[in-house]
Amino acid sequence: VPRRPCPATVRREVPLPIRTREGSTIQARLYTFDGLDDGREHIALAMGLASGAAPVRPPLVRVHSECLTGDVLGSERCDCGPQLHEAVLRISRAGGYLLYLRQEGRGIGLYNKVDAYVLQDAGLDTYEANLALGYGEDERDYTVAAQMLLGLGVDRVDLLSNNPDKVAQLSTAGIRVQRRVPTGLHLSPNNGPYLAAKFASGGHGVVLPKEGRPIPRSR
Ligand SMILES: [Zn+2]
Repeated sequence: VPRRPCPATVRREVPLPIRTREGSTIQARLYTFDGLDDGREHIALAMGLASGAAPVRPPLVRVHSECLTGDVLGSERCDCGPQLHEAVLRISRAGGYLLYLRQEGRGIGLYNKVDAYVLQDAGLDTYEANLALGYGEDERDYTVAAQMLLGLGVDRVDLLSNNPDKVAQLSTAGIRVQRRVPTGLHLSPNNGPYLAAKFASGGHGVVLPKEGRPIPRSR
């Protein structure tokens, strides 16, 4: 049950220049924290925030859950890699934070996610597969995201997300979501069924193109 958590405290802050796929460099700052509820090593990246001047709008925030296969290896089974890349670019332009949560596979872990892939290849969708393995459809908990934001002095955000559950959990945890900013659609030859399941079962606000007619990636 989500609840209002204690703010985390910043443990370290270091500059982290990031090379984008386009070859430009973003001057990010990386934060680590003490006091996170689940004891895992979650991080926050601040990008595009001018120091000193009071911001006009709430920071643009993306709460991204770790996906080793998508984020690091570029797997086309999901859309995590392109979503992460899109978030880095948009946050660096708008000013805000990327929270990278270490909850792989909707919270069930990497090996279990791969077990779920086996079931998906046998015909189950991404949510049904998790249920068949004895887990919830989506076990992700965004409490630690709220703790990090509060620790950074942020209690009002524009949230870059298509996921209504994220908005609900963050709101309950004391973060006011001023606007939900939808992400682009990242369709690949292999992730159509995955995205369709997110839309049908996960309540995600994404609009899918007709089969076989991918719509262009937004920016
Ligand atoms: Zn993924």
